Amino acid sequence: MTTKITRRDLLQDAGLISLGLGITPSAAAAATTLGADHKPYPPTRTGLRGSHPGSFEGAHAYTRDGLPHPKPQPLDESFDLVIVGAGISGLAAAYYYQKRFGPDRKILILDNHDDFGGHAKRNEFHQGGRLQLAIGGTHNLEYWQFSETVSALMQTLGVNIPKLRQQTDFNYGRNGAKGQAIWFDAETYGVNQLVTGCSLKGPPSTSPLPYLDQFPISTTAKTQLRAFYQRQTDVLADLSSAERGDYLHTTGYFDFLESKGGLGTEARQLFKTACHGSWGLETECLSVAEALDDGLPGLNLIGEAAAESDWDYPVGIFPDGNASIARLLVQRLIPSIAPGVTADTIATTDFDYSQLDRPQNAVQIRLQSTVINVEHQEGAVRLTYLFGGKAFALTAKRCVMACYHSVIPYICPTLPAAQKAAQRYQVKYPLLLTNVLIRSRAPFTQLGIDGAACPGRLHSALFLMNGVETGGYAQASDDPGPVPVTFWGSLSPPDGIENFWDKLRASRTRMLNLTLEDYEREVRSVLQDLLGPAGFSAKRDILAITVNRWPHGYSHEYLDLWDEDWPRGEAPHEIARQRFGNITFANADAGASAYTHTAIEEAARAVAEFDAPSLD
Ligand SMILES: Cc1cc2nc3c(=O)[nH]c(=O)nc-3n(C[C@H](O)[C@H](O)[C@H](O)COP(=O)(O)OP(=O)(O)OC[C@H]3O[C@@H](n4cnc5c(N)ncnc54)[C@H](O)[C@@H]3O)c2cc1C
Repeated sequence: MTTKITRRDLLQDAGLISLGLGITPSAAAAATTLGADHKPYPPTRTGLRGSHPGSFEGAHAYTRDGLPHPKPQPLDESFDLVIVGAGISGLAAAYYYQKRFGPDRKILILDNHDDFGGHAKRNEFHQGGRLQLAIGGTHNLEYWQFSETVSALMQTLGVNIPKLRQQTDFNYGRNGAKGQAIWFDAETYGVNQLVTGCSLKGPPSTSPLPYLDQFPISTTAKTQLRAFYQRQTDVLADLSSAERGDYLHTTGYFDFLESKGGLGTEARQLFKTACHGSWGLETECLSVAEALDDGLPGLNLIGEAAAESDWDYPVGIFPDGNASIARLLVQRLIPSIAPGVTADTIATTDFDYSQLDRPQNAVQIRLQSTVINVEHQEGAVRLTYLFGGKAFALTAKRCVMACYHSVIPYICPTLPAAQKAAQRYQVKYPLLLTNVLIRSRAPFTQLGIDGAACPGRLHSALFLMNGVETGGYAQASDDPGPVPVTFWGSLSPPDGIENFWDKLRASRTRMLNLTLEDYEREVRSVLQDLLGPAGFSAKRDILAITVNRWPHGYSHEYLDLWDEDWPRGEAPHEIARQRFGNITFANADAGASAYTHTAIEEAARAVAEFDAPSLD
């Protein structure tokens, strides 16, 4: 093994230094902007990523906060199509547009971030000359939900799901020798306590019942939990089938835990953040049906039992998550960015970002470009965007809005009022994903875990990002070298906020207001206290930290307790996505479903809508 320090190692260190040793953030950002060959290479950037500094302030100032728009400089460029948003939906829209209208059509994709992919981003760490990959946002492919359209695109991209399945034993921290684990921290529970062999949310074999004595909670809470887990009954036995369904979908899970499960505040609190990763929401926002479906306990109280197989989650996953899908799409649109790359080699292939925005290519991707105005005018679309503090204007024949819906009313002020109201309604659920490169997994191995739920902490769970292989990239589950630990979840809003939308906004604000130092302090303290007993030293063993903030995370999926049961065609996402002149709407929001396959399907629909003549 080589011990040579490469340029990437140095850059990685520059990112680290910015976390604490006095380099100004701007100097560190400038240093980490360059890749091995001195070209921009965003995936290696550490610190605050996702909604990174510089990516959202312009949009907030000129759209949300109503600052008068600067006078734009007109650009002498013409495009058949401009796409707003370089996430999977925007990239797929470019693919479908070329397929439908010809590969030589000029397409410009604008995105406010310094990297493409939208949520589907990758974090690269380079240590000792070796690449370590972590997922920066969108994780995996739920291929059993693919439509024919999505399956066909995956085939075109060479994505082979059975092969991906064979190449992974990654299981979100459930593969430790001692099974799943819950970690109670001293700040919240008075003592640091790791309880292995059980989970708060999982199959019957991981029930906490045999382990409750080890939980550092009051005797009262333990007694309540013991009774709750032991009881086999049907508290809804007196209800008709319709009444039963009604109860499960209209009752809050926390109300159910209290009134039917006999759990007091302290016991209920254990489950408060258990759905942060799966929903991006506080568990108290879910109905009984939604919470039970998500794996929370209580089936035993309604006369039902869970099967072990209910928890199988056989997803397709790349080492950098669905960033590989975004990269495969970009390579298809701009082949010179990584000539000859395939789905087998995508994980380890460097991309030449200087190829992204070249006028000689049919497709151009322009990053760090925040669109602040889009208007349909006389059979064309006129756009204004910000780049480097200046405003630019251009005209295209057509436009696909592949950005999230709640921002569109600010950007497209001339849309019908009902459409803007529907878009505003679709507030996304915030998510937080912090990747920490540690020197070795040995402390995890010694404790017999490869992840843990952390009910008292900022991130509700953590897991080792290993056991995923593709094309020359291997991060085996027994590799002795450095390994990323993923801290996963959302951010709780302050207590006492009742309104669902206010909770989301408060959570988003909190996420953006916490500093890098706040996040760094949190993950250092968790790793030290959890792994310290197994010889881990945060000071010595943490090699890099990348915080991916997604204040606009999962698409707003409709919830039992907060959303209406709209008739077909009248749901907010259906009103929000209606074509307006030469503007159509993609993004996962257009399907009200937080999935990559939805983002792709909505892209195909948004492009197909151009088949009809313009509406004016
Ligand atoms: C942390 C996380 C984990 C997830 N995990 C999964 C998973 O495991 N499986 C799954 O299927 N889905 C997952 N999702 C859901 C994910 O949202 C979708 O799968 C998909 O990536 C969404 O793609 P999109 O193109 O619709 O939206 P986005 O990825 O949000 O892309 C839209 C882009 O438009 C940009 N934009 C917004 N406004 C402007 C503007 N004014 N000007 C220019 N650009 C703008 C945005 O910043 C963004 O880059 C996850 C999401 C998150 C956040």
